[in-house]
Amino acid sequence: MIDVSGLRKRFGPTVALDGMTFTVAPGTVTGFVGPNGAGKSTTIRVILGLDAPDEGHALIGGKPYARLPHPLHHVGALVDAAALQPGRTGRNHLLWLAHSQGMSAGHVDTAIELVGLGRAARRKAGGYSLGMRQRLGIAAAMLGDPPVIIMDEPFNGMDPEGIIWMRGLLRSLAAEGRAVLVSSHLMGELQGIADHVVVVGRGRVLANARVEDLVARASDDQVRLRTSAPD
Ligand code: ADP
Ligand code: MG
Repeated sequence: MIDVSGLRKRFGPTVALDGMTFTVAPGTVTGFVGPNGAGKSTTIRVILGLDAPDEGHALIGGKPYARLPHPLHHVGALVDAAALQPGRTGRNHLLWLAHSQGMSAGHVDTAIELVGLGRAARRKAGGYSLGMRQRLGIAAAMLGDPPVIIMDEPFNGMDPEGIIWMRGLLRSLAAEGRAVLVSSHLMGELQGIADHVVVVGRGRVLANARVEDLVARASDDQVRLRTSAPD
């Protein structure tokens, strides 16, 4: 569903992407894990057509994002805290977005309910906590009921209750057959919900495996280190 192949991207002297390659299948949550600066956000921006790669390609259902008709019906995305107009309500932001894509107010209210924004949706976005802004961003991503969901660090700014909710949401989106790509700089946030993880560093894939296998491998390494350490 998502096909990222051989992406290279430089910002001046900085190599942000250095051959980034992976795929995300329908019906799965794919974790996209790596330290800050590893190239996660740049990859996601390239997938969404917000940045152009120097080399390689990113396709969604076989097409670049820019060629998708009604992109919000194909791909829902949460990127870094989107620009909000502080004086407008959360619901108003969603209505504007829905309208621009030929969707009804009914879509908006369904999305508001799905993310649990409740009555806060009628308050001005300027007073939202980061967790509420994340929920609003997720509502925006869900508006067109898209088969592909991409979220860049959705756990950022969420309280523990929000994190539990977010994990459940990601699982149910995949259980309904969607292809879900979710980035995090913390493996633990994705343990138990990601079907597999793409571990990245310095703009390239270091490992692509099931979380449990990675954790097992890491603890094997620990055991090996401990047992081979001199007294
Ligand atoms: P991550 O999301 O994994 O933290 P990013 O994709 O944001 O990583 O960044 C990858 C590298 O590219 C970093 O070294 C970052 O500083 C650099 N970078 C990202 N965007 C820009 C930009 N617009 N201008 C200059 N450098 C950038
Ligand atoms: Mg990032």
